[in-house]
Parts: sequence; C-alpha cells; structure tokens
Amino acid sequence: MKYLDEYRDSEACRKYALAIARITTRPWTIMEICGGQTHSIVKYGIDELLPKGITLVHGPGCPVCVTPVELIDKAIEIASNPKAIFCSFGDMLRVPGTKDDLLSVKARGGDVRIVYSPLDALKVAKDNPSREVVFFAVGFETTAPANAMAVFQAKASGVKNFSILVSHVLVPPAMEAILSSPGTLVQGFLAAGHVCTVMGYEEYGPIAKKYGVPIVVTGFEPLDIFQGIYMTVLQLEEGRAEVENQYSRSVKKEGNAPAQKIISDVFEVVPRKWRGVGEIPRSGLGLKKEFRDYDAELKFGVAGMKVEESTECISGVIRHGLKKPHQCPACGVRCTPEHPLGATMVSSEGACAAYYRYRKFADKDKAAREF
Ligand code: SF4
Repeated sequence: MKYLDEYRDSEACRKYALAIARITTRPWTIMEICGGQTHSIVKYGIDELLPKGITLVHGPGCPVCVTPVELIDKAIEIASNPKAIFCSFGDMLRVPGTKDDLLSVKARGGDVRIVYSPLDALKVAKDNPSREVVFFAVGFETTAPANAMAVFQAKASGVKNFSILVSHVLVPPAMEAILSSPGTLVQGFLAAGHVCTVMGYEEYGPIAKKYGVPIVVTGFEPLDIFQGIYMTVLQLEEGRAEVENQYSRSVKKEGNAPAQKIISDVFEVVPRKWRGVGEIPRSGLGLKKEFRDYDAELKFGVAGMKVEESTECISGVIRHGLKKPHQCPACGVRCTPEHPLGATMVSSEGACAAYYRYRKFADKDKAAREF
C-alpha cells in the first residue's frame, strides 16, 4: 500500500472490525500509547466499531499533555525575562501553568516566538547575539534527536546565547509505571509507531515478558489501528505476550542508529515528573554534564522552582487508563479548548480535546456522566 487513502479504506476497516469480533471471546482492555492514535480512534469512531468487549483506554503519549505544570511555570518565568527570546512549538503556548500561559506573556509584551524546529531557534540565537534565546524542548524520543542536534551544533559553532528548557520523556518507563500502578486495567498495548521508528522495539521485550502483556507497534491511520488491535486481541486470546510490529513500513527492530547516537551523545537518562502522574524514575532525558551551559534551567536560575498541580483535572487518571475524558465532570463544562483546565484539553493530540471535538457532549450526557 502506497497511498494515504488506502489506509483509510472503510471497507477494509469494516472487515478488520468483523475479524476482531470473530476472534474475541471475552472482554479485553487495550491502551494506545500515543495521542496521535487516540486522535484517530476518536475521529474515525474506531472504538465504536469494535465488539462490546474490547475497551480502548488512552495512554500518556501526548508530549504537551505530560509536560508538568512546574515546567510551564519555569517557561513563563524565563519568557517574562526581558533579556530572553523564548521559542516554542505553537501548541505549548496555551498550556496553563499555575496562573498563566505563554500566550499571556506574549500579550504582555514578552518576546515569545513560534518556531517549527529547534534549528530555527538556533538561527534566532545567531541573528540576535545580544539576547538569550531559549527553545522549549518537549517531547518523547521522537523529538529528542532534533533537540540534541541543535545543542550539539550550538556548541560546535561556539554559539553561547542559546539554551533549551528540557522536558523530554521516555515511553518504556511510563508503560511500566502504568502496568505496576494499583488497579491497572491495561492488558495490552498499541505502542507508538513514530517513537519506535527512532528507538526500535527491543526495549519492549522485557516489559511484555515481565507483565505478561502483548505489545504491538502500531501506526496512526485507521487501518493501522484496526490491524494493531487485531494482532493484540489475537495474542490475548491465544495467551501470548509478545512484541509484534504492525508498522513495519516505518519501524525496524533496531530503530534509527544515527538518531539514537545523537540522543546519547547529548542527553542522559534522568528521573522526570509527568503532569498529573508525578515523578517516574529514569523516565526522562536531561543534558549531559558537558552540555550544561545549554541548560536554560541553570542559566536562568529556575531549577529549584516547585509548584503543586491542580486537583480538579483528572488527566493523570485518564492517562493511566482508569477513566475516560467524558467521565471528568469538568469536560465540556468548565474545561473547553477555549478555557482549558488541563493540558489534555489544549493539545490537538490530547484525549480530552479529541473527545470534545469529535464526541459532542449533549446536556443529558453531561448530567449522566459517571464519576
Ligand atoms: S476535561 Fe479538562 S479538567 Fe478534565 S481531565 Fe481533561 S483536561 Fe483535565
């Protein structure tokens, strides 16, 4: 299959839905890791075509959604500094911190710029040698190579007025945290295809074995997701817990070696806080000692900042697969994309935003929401 439409072929999707129904003999709960997959599932109504016993729960894989409120407050503090030019991908600008967001800083006259790549931010630094340029380096293993490359190039070319505010998280420790959390419902995973394009999927073998869960590396189009669910359900029904690759047109078992090399040259594994979840050991990336001059937290003296998260937003529970967005009392009422209470309502990949956009909440549904 070469063209996008073929991955959205409704007849082929229907056949997969029937095939899943044929092999399903009991209820199973499967978590898709990535927000892009959640978006496709809700947009195309994939979950509504599955047999009743198959429940999809929505995992932690949206980088905007997992960035802790503490990092947003640090970004706001740095962006409010008149010496700084703060560069970020656009979707981070509306993520609420404890009191504010980056868009409000920009409205107050702060120099906050939307860029499309960390290398664009490096160019801003070269063009503005008298200013300090900071790039908000968020994301999973997918965005880490480009962020590492920007820091590597800054050092190699002697640019000293560039730094990154790092909020990189890693998928496998999050999967382990979900599987070992009390009351977890997750029995199988659709792993994130783009993360595996970079990292491969050798890391997942020990997780599948230790927790007895099938893990299927899966793409993002409707047919990818149907096939990934079929492969996962087949394993569950046959009592297998293996790692399989549905997304073979993009993912190799060993991943992308040059991308992994630049990550390990510049970053080291560190503990990281996840929004709504708390700290997970060895679940993030931080700059290695030799690149600390490019660490915005150290440069701007915000490393020690600590803040408490709001208790109203239950996105952490949603990302553990224990509840769905429509079960949040605030969803579509006090929390909307225009006035988000949590990051999962801001990002286009956030589960709450996907439910809000594609599953309209009628008033009677709001009243009936279980909680
Ligand atoms: S609907 Fe809003 S408040 Fe509720 S979990 Fe989602 S982001 Fe948080």
